[in-house]
Amino acid sequence: MGLGVSPGSGTTTPRVAVIGAGYAGVAAAVRLTLANIRVCVFESAHTPGGRARSIQYHEHILDNGQHMLVGAYANLLALLDVIGMGEAGLLRMPMQMRMHPDFRLTTPRLPAPLNLAWGLIMAEGLSWRDRMAATRLSNMVRKPCLPPKLRSGTVAELLAATGQTEKLVRALWLPLCIAALNTPIETASADVFANVLRDALFKRREHSDFLLPTVGLTELFPGPALQWLSARGGAVHLGTRVRAVSGEGRGFTILTDKAKAMGDSFDAVVCAVGPHQLDELGGLAATALPASRPLRFEPICTVYLAYSSPVPLPAIMVGSERGVAQWFFDRSQLGGPGGLIAAVISASGPHERMAQSKIASQAHAELQQITGPLETPLWSKVITERFATFACTPDAPRPGTRTNLPGFYLAGDYTAGPYPATLEGAVRSGEAAAAQLIADLAH
Ligand SMILES: Cc1cc2nc3c(=O)[nH]c(=O)nc-3n(C[C@H](O)[C@H](O)[C@H](O)COP(=O)(O)OP(=O)(O)OC[C@H]3O[C@@H](n4cnc5c(N)ncnc54)[C@H](O)[C@@H]3O)c2cc1C
Repeated sequence: MGLGVSPGSGTTTPRVAVIGAGYAGVAAAVRLTLANIRVCVFESAHTPGGRARSIQYHEHILDNGQHMLVGAYANLLALLDVIGMGEAGLLRMPMQMRMHPDFRLTTPRLPAPLNLAWGLIMAEGLSWRDRMAATRLSNMVRKPCLPPKLRSGTVAELLAATGQTEKLVRALWLPLCIAALNTPIETASADVFANVLRDALFKRREHSDFLLPTVGLTELFPGPALQWLSARGGAVHLGTRVRAVSGEGRGFTILTDKAKAMGDSFDAVVCAVGPHQLDELGGLAATALPASRPLRFEPICTVYLAYSSPVPLPAIMVGSERGVAQWFFDRSQLGGPGGLIAAVISASGPHERMAQSKIASQAHAELQQITGPLETPLWSKVITERFATFACTPDAPRPGTRTNLPGFYLAGDYTAGPYPATLEGAVRSGEAAAAQLIADLAH
């Protein structure tokens, strides 16, 4: 099946089906629309966003999981500008890490990497030995790439090779690795970790900023992006599951669980479903997928705790060096109601064997270690995403955007790229799939 039409040629406007309206699929759809390609988005859920979506819980709008962005998410931030949202739904603040009980790092408004150097000098809870060790790791990571042996190694090996102290590992590197790669340091990829640190800490000062959503994750990007798309002639089918992709003659046909969405023919397909959902697609899609080893996955659990009065968390976001929950976010400062806290438990661990009520009471107990005594929460809600991210190990089999089948492209946070499973990784892969498709259409 060839791709014989050219974008924007005027005579035939190419038509592309995008399967999945997570951040990757929506990014691909926006980029294709900008190239004058007619896009039709199919999303099985009624709410777009995939693993970064808003959910209604009684009268509250929550997210399926607390998310954080950094200033280095250049592609996502650029797309927010394209659709006219800018940073309206984000709270930007200079990088600051506050880990209970005694670690505190704040970066001043100096050019990178001076901001980090100064931050480390002034950090609370570190000895001079810790500071020297952090500088050693920084000096290695800021180079364009790691030495070959470490590149294929784990984060634990990188930390050992640069002589990181126990305190630094516990208070800084482990929480950063878990937050960014959602994979324990013993198995996480040193190369991907270094990519994230390099982009965030050693390029531009604003790259290290933390950006916290103040609106639901659907309202942050996928919702307004799909409205933007519809206003430009794109079609959006929410609540429409694609069952199979078939190709007869020239063009792909999309078989959905709704008869009304069938019958159209598409010049190309961007398949942006989650990596754990690929197997459910039948027909040609099944033959297009790479026959590589399956990815492994890591969960993320978010525990919402609602109190009747404001919680005296010392910062919007506070980490804990010990305990089941790694981070606590004060949602009352992020557009949520007063007294709402989101506790995040990343990656696999003993909590997976605990009942939801036990996880909630454990998070409540650990929060009180930071804040002092609190009343019993009015309500709590535990949301566990079992397939939150792929396990970002050095040998994770990440397929490319192109598949065995001409005209059928993959997009998603798991496809080959320098980033771990993140919003930015998803957006970059969606844009890469769109760019590849546009280039192929032109030939
Ligand atoms: C709890 C949690 C916390 C996280 N925290 C962060 C964070 O702080 N920072 C960060 O950058 N990243 C974070 N991530 C990772 C980030 O959310 C993901 O990397 C990103 O959302 C993946 O986007 P995607 O488009 O690749 O895939 P998905 O979001 O999985 O999108 C796939 C879409 O395809 C749809 N679909 C599936 N099958 C079909 C079908 N047959 N037909 C039609 N549609 C279909 C799905 O419904 C879904 O909407 C977190 C993830 C989770 C789960």
